[in-house]
Amino acid sequence: MLGAMQDWDLRVTHLIDHAAREHGSREIVTRWADGSETRTNWAGIRHDALRMTQALRRLGVQQGDRIATLAMNHARHLVSWYGAVGVGGVLHTINPRLFDDQLEYIANHAEDRVLLYDAAFKPIIERMKPKWTTIRHYICFDNGEFEDWIGAEDGVAEWASGDERDPCMLCYTSGTTGNPKGVLYEHRSTMLHAMTGLQPSIFDFDTRSVMLPVVPMFHAASWGLPWAGASAGVKFVFSAVNDAAVLCELMNREGVTHSAGVPTVWLATFKHMDETGIDLPALRHAIIGGSAAPRFMIERLMKAGVNVAHAWGMTETSPIGTTGAMTWDWADKSFEERVDVKQMQGRVPFGVELRTVDLGDPTVVLPRDGKTSGALQVRGPWIIKRYFKAEQDAVTPDGWFDTGDVGIIHPDGTLQLTDRTKDVIKSGGEWISSVELENAAVGHPAVAEAAAIGIYHPKWDERPILVVVKKPGAEVGAEEIKAHLAQHVAKWWLPDAIEFVDEIPHGATGKISKKDLRDQFRDYKLAEA
Ligand code: ADP
Repeated sequence: MLGAMQDWDLRVTHLIDHAAREHGSREIVTRWADGSETRTNWAGIRHDALRMTQALRRLGVQQGDRIATLAMNHARHLVSWYGAVGVGGVLHTINPRLFDDQLEYIANHAEDRVLLYDAAFKPIIERMKPKWTTIRHYICFDNGEFEDWIGAEDGVAEWASGDERDPCMLCYTSGTTGNPKGVLYEHRSTMLHAMTGLQPSIFDFDTRSVMLPVVPMFHAASWGLPWAGASAGVKFVFSAVNDAAVLCELMNREGVTHSAGVPTVWLATFKHMDETGIDLPALRHAIIGGSAAPRFMIERLMKAGVNVAHAWGMTETSPIGTTGAMTWDWADKSFEERVDVKQMQGRVPFGVELRTVDLGDPTVVLPRDGKTSGALQVRGPWIIKRYFKAEQDAVTPDGWFDTGDVGIIHPDGTLQLTDRTKDVIKSGGEWISSVELENAAVGHPAVAEAAAIGIYHPKWDERPILVVVKKPGAEVGAEEIKAHLAQHVAKWWLPDAIEFVDEIPHGATGKISKKDLRDQFRDYKLAEA
């Protein structure tokens, strides 16, 4: 017997229909790379997206075809998300910071058929065109090209219908080892994820929210914001450039209440605020994720009255996995204790399950005791089962996906990430968390950035060294940093050496590339080894 409720499939086009119908006049503002600004609203986004579906149909695009974008955050990019899924296609957001061989691989592997791109990325297009074998149509978002293309249509059209388990979006992981891997989201998984994003501990949206997403639309689905934002009818403020001065000015002028970005974005914002003396009085909710948010960052935002949602997730998890939700005894906690909670990666929303297993023997599930660290596994309706075109599932026989992260689960369910499986440093059979060393190091006022890696040691197997970039004009020596670290980590964790460098290598998503750093230090010898 079936239940007797209505058929209302979980397809993401419902999101834009709702936004246009219930929040049609809510503005979508774009600050373009050339400094100009345009304003549209949710009704305008829907109308343009419908016109785009007509234009795509005219090009012969079929259900399931991949429609790629190579673009920064702006209203036309948002239109193209809904236009691509609206025609029944699969939106493939490409990260323009990838290397050429990765760009070549993913567009061909995805079999992209149409590519929409920002004029700023024309050099990439020129370079890659001969190598991309499946793309038939290139459409520039700028110079009136996109507008002319959809301008020929009237917007009187229907969204494609289909199964809620149909794919709607494809995102590739940056592939720090081997080729990038494609994660194929479904309408249903994306919809459930969008609805979850509305929880106070995650995006905390209501109709008054004004969101400036700094997290790019080409990275991990911009954390699902373009979908969740439509369901809540938020005002979006997009900036096609990621410059702290531009972002701060926009935030204040447009009354931005919500923003989301990786820790380095917040660092740049703080620097600009310190240099100019401005603050962000309207801001009240900051989502920080992608890598660990340092303590001073959380503290500073919380002191300014901003609620910090320190989130953990990955492309494979759509990406919401956990966020720093308040605990039931929040009112009894001191400020310091609250920061302690927020510094960890937080708890799962309904729909995500976590467990840790022994790093050496994955059949052993570890206790949630707040001490034992292990390989983090995850399960749920918006978590990957199989990579795009892979022959085998990416999950254990009982359905868990291994994240490649290492963490501790506390008795109340709070996740504390301690490392990635490939970065953890093994010294004398015990694990040292590179992340904790780095977090402690960036707490020193003279340290701009720090990365810990393991170096071969004949007795201990590996010992940590810490690579440090000083803040401009700051003076600090290795001993002073060690003394600072000693206040935060166990003595045997202290790095055997501290090396000062001008720059630490970063990957395509702006995170430190430990692989490149390890390559740089491949022949490094410890003084006492
Ligand atoms: P990539 O693997 O290409 O870097 P993702 O953006 O999907 O792509 O990165 C996910 C990884 O980022 C996680 O597996 C985790 O290691 C790290 N990460 C994400 N959020 C956090 C966080 N809040 N704290 C620490 N690490 C995080």
